[in-house]
Amino acid sequence: MAAAQTSRPAVPENDRFDGIDLLSLGNTQATPFYAYSANAIRQRIAGLQHALAGMDAAVCFAVKANPTLAILQLMAEAGVGADIVSCGELRRSLRAGIPASRIVFSGVGKSDAEIAEALEAGVGRFNVESADELEALQRIAHQRDVIARAAVRINPDVDARTHGKISTGKAENKFGVSIDEARQWFADAGRRGNVRLDGLHMHIGSQILELEPMRQALRRLAAFWRELSEDGHRIDSIDVGGGLGVVYRKGHDRPVELQGYVQAIKEALAGFEGRVILEPGRYLVAEAGVLLTRVIRVKGNDKRRFLVVDAAMNDLLRPSLYDAWHDIEKVASGEGRAQVSVAYDIVGPVCETGDTLATARMLPPCAAGDLLAIRGAGAYGASMSSTYNSRPLIAEVLVDDGRYALIRRGQSFEEMVAGEQAATSWRAL
Ligand SMILES: *Cc1c(COP(=O)(O)O)cnc(C)c1O
Repeated sequence: MAAAQTSRPAVPENDRFDGIDLLSLGNTQATPFYAYSANAIRQRIAGLQHALAGMDAAVCFAVKANPTLAILQLMAEAGVGADIVSCGELRRSLRAGIPASRIVFSGVGKSDAEIAEALEAGVGRFNVESADELEALQRIAHQRDVIARAAVRINPDVDARTHGKISTGKAENKFGVSIDEARQWFADAGRRGNVRLDGLHMHIGSQILELEPMRQALRRLAAFWRELSEDGHRIDSIDVGGGLGVVYRKGHDRPVELQGYVQAIKEALAGFEGRVILEPGRYLVAEAGVLLTRVIRVKGNDKRRFLVVDAAMNDLLRPSLYDAWHDIEKVASGEGRAQVSVAYDIVGPVCETGDTLATARMLPPCAAGDLLAIRGAGAYGASMSSTYNSRPLIAEVLVDDGRYALIRRGQSFEEMVAGEQAATSWRAL
């Protein structure tokens, strides 16, 4: 007997997201909202920790990629520290349970107040980015009679071959100091009794998809470490920064392989006996996040078809700011996922032409009310959002093995305007 014939092709499953199907998830909250997979984040952390096994290595999550407390708690639970660039990030990290000793403080514009607060908290290390900051650190640590541990951020002058706005390791960028300048800092380190300068740091850029620029920067950093050691300067930590790229466009972006990256670090730093610090941000969280949004309406002219969705550039800035690509899918079951494709420009409600999330994207036919998933939204998504156009900040949800929890509720109008007031109490100067 012949096998039973199916008259229709198998109905595809809905997209699973850490044990929940996205279509159901989309019905749990008002859209737009962010959802993150706890297991995807845990897997990234575990993979990195596994690759680093046997090394004296510390992973410090770059908080700016996703500073939501519940995300930082996942980091804390996994023994991951924090790379911070402000006292807001310091307080978030501490509140999430990341010990101060596992926090490194980067950034070109640390204020005196921030330096004092970080010293008070006992942060593990200051990544110092200018001579002026080094003097400020000495002065403030001296006032408090403490010793600050510091690393000099080297600008290795390499081209990370990434988007210009996220390249940070070229001489014309504002970050770090030249090796020549750093050499001077070590030469006169004795003058600064309250700063223990025993670390090197670099971070050459973000979304790096090639190993070669990283290798080149590592070689320069390593050569400097060897030179310093020969001159009798003890280096206890080498922080190689973050920057590992991720897949925003499936089948197109080819990230650096973790093993190759770790191997490059090991090779460059062969013989180094101190601690190696890594500061990944995007790598740990980007692909674990999705921005769920609904189609408000479909409109067209003779040139274009637009999907006007309820998420906008204020919720996810990357496409406007960096011309970034995010894979976008229609979330539907069965027929709704038909293969027939239509080219849509996916735009938000904000009054800017730049409020375009994607251009000429092929999707199954869409109608008002349809749910879309914008992938790769776990890093620099919620963290870069604003209330532009007086759109309140949106909710964030954590999904963990078939369950979900609200980790940040959508901002209310009253919360958005809290702190504003009529100009009634004037003061003369
Ligand atoms: C932003 C930043 C990082 C993280 O960059 P990713 O590309 O997200 O890994 C690490 N270190 C410093 C100093 C940074 O400014």
